[in-house]
Amino acid sequence: MYFDAHTHAHFAAFADDYREVIKRALDARVGMINVGTQRDTSKRGIEVAHEFENDPVYATVGLHPVHTEASFHDAKELGDNETAKGFTSRGETFDFEYYRELATDPKVVGIGECGLDYYRLGPDSKTKQAEVFIGQIEVAQAVGKPLMIHCRDAFSDLITILKEHRSKLKPDAGVIHFFTGTPENTRELLDLGFGFTFGGVVTFARDYDPSINIIPLDKILSETDAPYVTPAPYRGKRNEPAYVIEAVKKLAELKGIELAEMEAQIWANAQRIFDIS
Ligand SMILES: [Zn+2]
Repeated sequence: MYFDAHTHAHFAAFADDYREVIKRALDARVGMINVGTQRDTSKRGIEVAHEFENDPVYATVGLHPVHTEASFHDAKELGDNETAKGFTSRGETFDFEYYRELATDPKVVGIGECGLDYYRLGPDSKTKQAEVFIGQIEVAQAVGKPLMIHCRDAFSDLITILKEHRSKLKPDAGVIHFFTGTPENTRELLDLGFGFTFGGVVTFARDYDPSINIIPLDKILSETDAPYVTPAPYRGKRNEPAYVIEAVKKLAELKGIELAEMEAQIWANAQRIFDIS
């Protein structure tokens, strides 16, 4: 079984064909986690997971740092016509109880994507993002599930927060998705119990090889982050979970092992970290 540990087949970009997209992945032996980013996409991920009740299709629920402010709207995520799709980018106020309740669903295997994103920042963004992130660390603790972390241009603050709240983390604390940190960040996050997911970018950029080199095999996972960041040789097309195999091929090559071994290792890692069978 291959595993797409971070994808969004439940986003607006797949509104017309998500069933076919997910079936295509399952036919290619690819399981997946559809990752929530705010109230509506979190709820939707659970609904989609239950449509595939007996398949390895899971969800995480959480509030992405960019959705703590109203400034950003992504049509691939939320749709061109917000009213028609029923999704809004609302500069959401974090509601602990809403996410805790969603997180008790058996198809929910983690909390996120949560974390810090300093790429676009308003005057109070850092404080707000930190509060919302800590709130989600506490949801994860309350339901005993791992974290699905997004971090962009903010690894120093992210690691500081995780260290301060270390006692709330599970031994397998979760994963850092689309990891772009330095080898030094890598070591600190490994020490905190985190694993790392790598996607399409590793098929065409070599910037992350130094980190991949020092991550033990039992801490590496694969992702697509579909519909974004399409891997080679599909560049220019909409990304989808079935393409995760391209990332796994590259990770196997970088780690100097056979593809089948990398595939089995990633599936075992996913089962252990996200407590799935
Ligand atoms: Zn994502």
